[in-house]
Amino acid sequence: MIQGLKEKTALITGSTSGIGLGIAQALAASGANVVMNGLGNAGDIEKIRTGIEKDHGVRALYHDADMTKPAQIRDMCTKAASIFGAVDILVNNAGIQFVSPIQDFPEDKWNAILSINLTSAFHTIKGCVGGMRSKGWGRIINVASAHGLVASPFKSAYIAAKHGLVGLTKTVALETAKDRITCNAICPGYVLTPLVEGQIRDQAKAHNLPEKEVVEKIMLDPQPTKKFVQIDDVAAMAVFLCSDAAQGITGTALPIDGGWTAR
Ligand code: NAD
Repeated sequence: MIQGLKEKTALITGSTSGIGLGIAQALAASGANVVMNGLGNAGDIEKIRTGIEKDHGVRALYHDADMTKPAQIRDMCTKAASIFGAVDILVNNAGIQFVSPIQDFPEDKWNAILSINLTSAFHTIKGCVGGMRSKGWGRIINVASAHGLVASPFKSAYIAAKHGLVGLTKTVALETAKDRITCNAICPGYVLTPLVEGQIRDQAKAHNLPEKEVVEKIMLDPQPTKKFVQIDDVAAMAVFLCSDAAQGITGTALPIDGGWTAR
């Protein structure tokens, strides 16, 4: 791990589980204080929070902002800045999925996916970029997806949101380019997390197939390595993007997808 993030504060949305939790742990291991966010059981979250503090000797805070609620997002950004001085590293990771043909796609699911997977990043960036400018340093990392670069059927809202997140990434990179702030998107292929475990169960029911076959024949079909991407690999990329060596990398959408988007 790069140990150069002491004195920095990282806010990671959706960090109570999966990729976001992996990124929070990796940034803490590199010395950053972390602001965690996400849904879940209060006792479990508290255990994770105190575990991060104990394991890495950093401060870890939890804010329960719902990523569909702009006022709560603003409150999270303001509280993080007032406690730590500024949010130096912002990771927009919270996300949900829903799979359906477009003619049956429920409007409430479309709205929720667009709010959580795209619009929340607009609000967090708006809330944190001023503090980064004042300090003359910042890193914004948007966890998009291979589905931010290419499409698959039945995921209209998710794919629209993730393509939108890649567009937002490029615009913010241009607006902050002279301020020692970088903004990049990471585009993972399939990673085995609770979000994907849910999809495996749903697909097994829908296709009447054993879960093992769903993984091999459906899920990993577009991923040439035929292996899930590892949470640690995504987290290591996030840590690298925060390093000085990555100061020239901005406005990119970086696939970690086992070759999926090389087709
Ligand atoms: P996950 O379900 O394990 O984690 C999602 C996180 O978002 C959780 O902490 C959850 O509590 C949080 N969240 C959901 N709704 C929220 C809300 N309204 N307010 C606040 N937090 C909320 O899933 P994951 O696979 O770790 O996904 C993390 C990100 O990675 C998502 O943006 C997802 O689209 C993206 N991604 C995942 C994969 C994959 O294969 N798992 C691939 C590419 C991209």
